[in-house]
Amino acid sequence: MKKPAVFFDRDGVLNEDDGYVFEISKLKWIAGAREAVKAANDAGYFAFVITNQSGVARGLYQEHHVEALHRWMADDLARIGARIDAFEYCPYHPDAVIERYRKTSYRRKPAPGMITDLLERFPVDLSRSILIGDKLTDLDAAQAAGVRGLLFSGGDLAQLLRSILPTKQDGLLKR
Ligand SMILES: [Mg+2]
Repeated sequence: MKKPAVFFDRDGVLNEDDGYVFEISKLKWIAGAREAVKAANDAGYFAFVITNQSGVARGLYQEHHVEALHRWMADDLARIGARIDAFEYCPYHPDAVIERYRKTSYRRKPAPGMITDLLERFPVDLSRSILIGDKLTDLDAAQAAGVRGLLFSGGDLAQLLRSILPTKQDGLLKR
């Protein structure tokens, strides 16, 4: 049984983008971000995070920092009963300082690889899915994957998402 998905960019969508965020103490949720994830869950959507983390390639922090931050985000989301089904990140960059991360990755947005990898692992109905990003590279990745992209330019993320997601009643009417 396929389900639609919300693909959330991370920095600038779920949390404030203060530039290469990796410390838990410095993470600030965007207004309504946690509630937006919950709204996606409640509407029967997968909720995914897809995030470029070239800070790893640049030697600013390591993969274990990214993973610890994602675990913390998952725990904090759980407090309100919200859940991310998968966190995908891309640590590579063509100009990496750290040699093993120096490459043009098919997963680095604007390439669609993080999305297409998720499609291999989860039964996603792409035609009803949406990607929310704060940069044009996010929208380019969406377009390349064949999913509707939406530019988030600030405000309350949950309010935005609720205006897009079908309500339970819509679902009942369709059936
Ligand atoms: Mg962003």
